[in-house]
Amino acid sequence: KKLQVALCGLGRYANLVREGLAESQYCQLAGIVTGTPAKAARWKADYHIPEKNCYSYQDFDKILTNKSIDLVYITLPNGLHKEFTLRAAKAGKHVIVEKPMALTEQDCQEMIAACRQAGVQLAVGYRLHYEPHHLELQRLGQQKVFGQVRLIEASLGYRLADIDPQDWHLSKALAGGGPLMNLGVYCIQSGRYVLGEEPVAVTAQFGPVTMPGLFTEVEESVSWQLHFPSGAVCTSTATASCNIDRFFASADSGSFELSPGLSYGPFRGKSSRGAFNFPVINQQAAQLDGIAPYILDSKPLPAHISGEEGRKDLRVLVGIYKAAKTGKRVALRSN
Ligand code: NAD
Repeated sequence: KKLQVALCGLGRYANLVREGLAESQYCQLAGIVTGTPAKAARWKADYHIPEKNCYSYQDFDKILTNKSIDLVYITLPNGLHKEFTLRAAKAGKHVIVEKPMALTEQDCQEMIAACRQAGVQLAVGYRLHYEPHHLELQRLGQQKVFGQVRLIEASLGYRLADIDPQDWHLSKALAGGGPLMNLGVYCIQSGRYVLGEEPVAVTAQFGPVTMPGLFTEVEESVSWQLHFPSGAVCTSTATASCNIDRFFASADSGSFELSPGLSYGPFRGKSSRGAFNFPVINQQAAQLDGIAPYILDSKPLPAHISGEEGRKDLRVLVGIYKAAKTGKRVALRSN
């Protein structure tokens, strides 16, 4: 049996997840949740989704009685992740929620508790955890192939000068913040999984606002430095001012890097021992097939993809905002 998945929020990323579902070995697109009737009609026709598996945001809770949906994959704006995770859990459905998991650590705790109470699994959409170049970065860093990593530079940015001023990415309520919330997650994640450590402190600085008509509620760019127990530092920028997409790690006896490094790729990388040679894969299919067997077999999800992992990222994200606002070094709890 394949895991029967309903996609909730049919925007840009949902289309990539849909393509991943089409290639997945263990999952199948079975239902949709959308606020736009025209989209519902198109998806029903194009992807053979029965009417009984189509929901609006208002009648979503009726999914409770639908035995042909196992899991809800939430690709809504960040500010709606918590509400729909709680509603899916209440309806007895497993959840994959996109990054960032929610807007605060408290939100994440409530989501984790709700899923635990309902006896459903909760995963966060960390596609790079299943991507071969990133698995290699983890191996090189955590196994200290070039000795202790001392410095990581990991930054991601897209120039958003042409963005619709009404886009939810510019809304504090719907996005929770600017490029830090949407792109910074990848930089933080790469630092955490390459070092295999949790940051203990953060310093941060907001960048200049060069597009004042757009960035009234959320930051246009922010740079930060995560300080790890080993003494390693991960320095990053998440920005809407310019395009940047790279990862670099310097260790005692060598270095390794990816550029493009944190986007959808295709990634190109090398280490002091030569160029990487890993296949280009469908990242969404790999992620779905990494998660699904645990749910199908009723086994607990590995920690690195669980709600707890999402919560840890939120703790860092909130710490970065606090450090940038106060100009002070902010200590981070280690659990
Ligand atoms: P999007 O704007 O393209 O899609 C959002 C969808 O939510 C749209 O279909 C929109 O109609 C719907 N929606 C419902 N209520 C809404 C409201 N009140 N305001 C605005 N839209 C509303 O956005 P996206 O790029 O698909 O991002 C969706 C989620 O996926 C975000 O959490 C984002 O961080 C995440 N994402 C993840 C990746 C990844 O690689 N893992 C990549 C892109 C986006």
